[in-house]
Amino acid sequence: MIGMTWEPSYIALHRSGDLAARAQAALASLAQCRLCPRACGVDRLAGKQGVCRVAAEPVVASWNVHRWEEPPISGTNGSGTIFFSGCTGQCRFCQNYPISQFGYGNHVTNERLAEMMLELQGRGCHNINFVTPTHFVPQILAAVNIAAGQGLRLPLVYNTSGYETLETLRLLENVVDIWLPDAKYADDKVARRLSGFPRYVENNRAALLEIYRQVGDELVLDEDGIARRGMIIRHLVLPGGLAATGEVMDWIARALSPRVHISLMDQYFPAHKAVGDPVIGRKVTAEEYDEALGAFEAAQLENGWMQEHDDCDCVGPLSPT
Ligand code: SF4
Repeated sequence: MIGMTWEPSYIALHRSGDLAARAQAALASLAQCRLCPRACGVDRLAGKQGVCRVAAEPVVASWNVHRWEEPPISGTNGSGTIFFSGCTGQCRFCQNYPISQFGYGNHVTNERLAEMMLELQGRGCHNINFVTPTHFVPQILAAVNIAAGQGLRLPLVYNTSGYETLETLRLLENVVDIWLPDAKYADDKVARRLSGFPRYVENNRAALLEIYRQVGDELVLDEDGIARRGMIIRHLVLPGGLAATGEVMDWIARALSPRVHISLMDQYFPAHKAVGDPVIGRKVTAEEYDEALGAFEAAQLENGWMQEHDDCDCVGPLSPT
């Protein structure tokens, strides 16, 4: 628990000028973009696009108060989500595919991005939650620096597929306080086939180790139970055991810590190219989700949330495991 004097980590970096310098160097790196493990090397400053299909200007699909994240993220007032367009992945089952894969969204300046954060803060949100942010990390750094100078004091949440490079994660060290990475797969072939990620497992595990190095296994809460610092790993259970939940849980418990918080998600439904697919064209059964919960327990993980299994298409409430 922490008191009222708490400030997010990026404030000190803003005051010292380090955040501005970090943003400037990161923006320059867009001339040969290697922000994610795909390492396209394209000149996004010149308008070129790599696999993520966006150039240098931020593209925001939506920004709003979100109340259905994990309880320490959404709290009572909601999380201030900013959904970016484009994605480094190409999930066949993506529920947001018009945004992630077809580029739906509005081009904004870094200054406008900063204003969005301040407006979400003004609406009482507990944090600013960057959703699918990897390909816009330099722009986010620049915008946070602007917003910090204008009074932003909320912790930042980095809500990612977990397909990251160490270099990009280190740009965010002491800028992001709350990490929300996925651990989607334990098999590279499945990751490639379903999500288009080359070498997902290796990159994801290195990323999770780096995040763990930065914030450890303690989820620091304020006096109202709202997260201030730490990591929550999300794992979406897939039909047919394709997410290899048991292996993922085992690896987290062994390589990181059994105290790491896990969000074990039961909200898969077939969307986009998964509709009509003989394997992933259905929801997860109650038995499959029970198996996933069993894998969480077998790995002796201690902290996390589950979802009530529900045969409708709605997302069930998150509750402690
Ligand atoms: S962020 Fe986009 S352009 Fe840059 S390396 Fe990744 S996919 Fe390629």
